[in-house]
Amino acid sequence: MKKLPCPHCQAPEIPGLTKLTLGPGRTIACPKCGGAISVPWTTLLLLLPFMGAMGIARTSSSLPVKAVVWVLMLGLVVVILQLFVPLQARDAHVGKR
Ligand SMILES: [Zn+2]
Repeated sequence: MKKLPCPHCQAPEIPGLTKLTLGPGRTIACPKCGGAISVPWTTLLLLLPFMGAMGIARTSSSLPVKAVVWVLMLGLVVVILQLFVPLQARDAHVGKR
């Protein structure tokens, strides 16, 4: 998977998968410059599709329908994260510098 550029030093050091594990409250350090990297607080809006999936899954009694809804929502959230959510430089520096 292609690596993403660090918002501090622009070095392509951030694995795309790492972005999926980031939340607005979780910050990682760039392996190269040690700068703090996270995602915007608006990422929390991605919880909405999850709540929608929960709502749909609750009203449906069919297990296959629930499974499909969950997989679709999960896929949607991953695609949105990868394509539309930028990495964000945080002021606080963590790790080595
Ligand atoms: Zn960096």
